[in-house]
Amino acid sequence: MPGVQILKSNRAQFEYEIHALVKSFYPAWDLKILTPESSVKDRKILEIPPSMEVEFQDDFVKFTVHHDLHNHSNTYTWWENSRLSSADYKNAFGRFLYASLREETGVSLPWGNLTGVRPTKLIMNMLEDGESEQDIAAHLEGQHFVSREKTALGIEIAKRERAILNTLHYEDGYSLYIGIPFCPTTCLYCSFTSYPISAWRERVGEYLDALEREMEETARLCSGKILDTVYIGGGTPTSLSAEELDRLLTKLENTFDLSAVQEFTVEAGRADSITEEKLRALREHGVTRISVNPQTMRQRTLDLIGRRHTVEQVREAFLTARKAGFDNINMDIILGLPGETEEDVRATIEQILVLAPDSLTVHSLAVKRASALNKWIEENGVTAYNNTEETMQIAALGARSMGMSPYYLYRQKNMSGNFENVGYCVDGKYGIYNILIMEEKQTIVALGAGSISKRVYPDGRIERSENVKEVALYIEKIDEMIERKRRLFEEK
Ligand code: SF4
Repeated sequence: MPGVQILKSNRAQFEYEIHALVKSFYPAWDLKILTPESSVKDRKILEIPPSMEVEFQDDFVKFTVHHDLHNHSNTYTWWENSRLSSADYKNAFGRFLYASLREETGVSLPWGNLTGVRPTKLIMNMLEDGESEQDIAAHLEGQHFVSREKTALGIEIAKRERAILNTLHYEDGYSLYIGIPFCPTTCLYCSFTSYPISAWRERVGEYLDALEREMEETARLCSGKILDTVYIGGGTPTSLSAEELDRLLTKLENTFDLSAVQEFTVEAGRADSITEEKLRALREHGVTRISVNPQTMRQRTLDLIGRRHTVEQVREAFLTARKAGFDNINMDIILGLPGETEEDVRATIEQILVLAPDSLTVHSLAVKRASALNKWIEENGVTAYNNTEETMQIAALGARSMGMSPYYLYRQKNMSGNFENVGYCVDGKYGIYNILIMEEKQTIVALGAGSISKRVYPDGRIERSENVKEVALYIEKIDEMIERKRRLFEEK
């Protein structure tokens, strides 16, 4: 089994944390954690000698890294004699493992041992608890090894997020997500619920029928609550025809009370799905914010990642949206795309500067196991894609030179360079829904195939309910999807 690396642990403890942290240092590894409780289907895995071992004892923990080629091992030991609470023990173990891996590799990670997707949530909670910026910085740098730059970025963003979310109704309000799981073609790196529209053209009507049923029932469950934001994503919602969009948005207006909605986003996304007619339909139905996402303005990369549209089409789509009256247009770019150099990123940013969008979301490429990109990397070598501090800087400076400030941030597993995704915007042109998804402060009711609803309780507890991903199954099982929603949202 080429590429598989084994970490053996004598206890089934902190498996998730160990996996996340080791993968952060060794992103190319296909890492398996074996504990006494692991059920291993593939017997060959048991024959692979471990690359690492963790040994928990009552008063110490040993972490050993084996080097096959040099036939030697490095062992790191943490003597833990005090009686720590389980939360403190877990944090201290995280610090020990991070420090050991840092020594082993000679590499420091920008976000230290914070491996979760929402670093700003921690900062936001500390701000809400009345902690000073100085104390927060000391905690991030001292307890989690976060770099000074990322600490400053995280605090700046959390403060801005807090100010933006002030206008929302946390307890009496909610946000609505509607997923349209179709795209013109499938991008190489895609890990979302997305199917080529050409294969589903004949059944879009059935999908909308099911969605409308889910909308009706959801509106009933949420009556009496204030709808703060609406986000139609996917997929690419503008894969639908202008008539289908009109049908969907008319149903939305007739079913939900949109009178208090502060933001209404439709992810137009792919330039090859945007037409004047569709943009007109969105405007007529009160959509306030859209995305036109180039990902890169380098044609060779667009061709490689399967976007099947030209750079020129991106420009045209953007300018058509401006002409249609949209004054809040976001653009997404991805750094670390296969074969792209710093010069390519600079050229992309320069072309975006000319268009002057209202917000720019800068993603670091995340290689998902299920994506076609993973296969591409296996064939072309892991060094063929890379994101660096320099390219992050080029994008950040580009955003700042358009008068934008960072307003939300999140991380993903297996991100190129272990960085983050950052949303920048000019004053007042943020995407509230983006912040809500990250900070988990408000209930999000999500409709459509592959969507996940989250109910946030006043005490911060969160319950989730998922819709099935496959479109045919969603249509067939719509009653069950509605029942799941009813169970989650009916008053308890
Ligand atoms: S546009 Fe987005 S959702 Fe559609 S295939 Fe590409 S990455 Fe996936």
